[in-house]
Amino acid sequence: MREAGVRPIATNSPAESRADAVGDRDGVRALLTGPREPLFARADALRRERMGDAVYLRGIVEFSNICANDCLYCGIRRSNRAVRRYRLDDDEILAVAHRMKGWGHGTVVLQSGEVDARRENDRIARLIARIRRETDLSVTVSAGNRSREVYARWRDAGMDRHLLRFETSDPALFAAMHPDCSLAERLDCLRALRELGVQVGSGFLIGLPGETLETLVENILLVRDLDLDMVGVGPFIAHPDTPLAGRPNAWAHDPEICFAVIATLRLVDPDLRLPATTAFDAFFPGVGRDLALRRGADVFMPNDTPARVRGDYLLYPNKPCVDEGDGACAGCVTARIWSLGRMIGEGPGHSPKSLAHAAIS
Ligand code: SAH
Repeated sequence: MREAGVRPIATNSPAESRADAVGDRDGVRALLTGPREPLFARADALRRERMGDAVYLRGIVEFSNICANDCLYCGIRRSNRAVRRYRLDDDEILAVAHRMKGWGHGTVVLQSGEVDARRENDRIARLIARIRRETDLSVTVSAGNRSREVYARWRDAGMDRHLLRFETSDPALFAAMHPDCSLAERLDCLRALRELGVQVGSGFLIGLPGETLETLVENILLVRDLDLDMVGVGPFIAHPDTPLAGRPNAWAHDPEICFAVIATLRLVDPDLRLPATTAFDAFFPGVGRDLALRRGADVFMPNDTPARVRGDYLLYPNKPCVDEGDGACAGCVTARIWSLGRMIGEGPGHSPKSLAHAAIS
């Protein structure tokens, strides 16, 4: 069954359409370094043709900032003692979820720091099940690396999708940034999720210190090879209470490359769900997410975290909407999307690829 707002996929298979589009390493590099306006126009046209004009809303609830990991770039890393740690209880999360339908959000994204403990994994399973029982929202989880067994339990509880960025395709850069995990382990998690029949979202940071153009090219090729349902990318922004404090984004001399990445992803992998991520607004204040939506993106992720804790989930500084009240993002986002001549997608907005993936698994 096809939902409102999702155009039928063209007759060629995703693999064929990818090959038609731009394909190889040289092609991707040429897109990233070539003239920008034609690239943006091409990506926008392809987004309209493949995905339609609907923008799907996935409301993020940052339900805990407690984290056992020490990722060098992240503001809520374990070693940052300046963070006031919190965990919302299930009733408070459910109260937000119940309001989401009225805001036009088809999906709740449960995001948190990473705590791979029995008690926490059980709580997340119970939370997923309760949201599925009490609302008709789709449930996406974004809570880090877990074993296949834990992911299976969350799937059985009703998890539709899981987001886990690979952050960078360069194993040495990944190792330098993540003391607690390797790139191979992260990719194993993505594979396990796919095999379990969960829709898989991943993505990467743009401009980590030490990144080169070749890293970006390889990141995009890895996205294509993983055949993901959704890809979230966003600029690295240095947080003052991390070891990367004060480090410039590797693309400080060419920040527009962030949009070239979005547009290139659309051309390389046309049926991807591509969110205009929050970090775009931090890097390009007030306009970043709108421009991403005009250059290939088709998903928006409003911040639905209760206002009283929003300021405690600062992965990076200058995060937008932190001073807004509960639910404020819901009204603002509708106006933003309409002003772009687009409309809010109805229903869950599952990835068009997920039907093909379900048939294979
Ligand atoms: N713990 C979960 C989810 C929270 S972090 C996980 O690891 O998946 C969500 C995303 O925020 C990360 O994947 C990372 O790409 C991004 N992020 C973290 N710190 C950032 C920073 N300083 N600048 C930009 N994005 C950042």
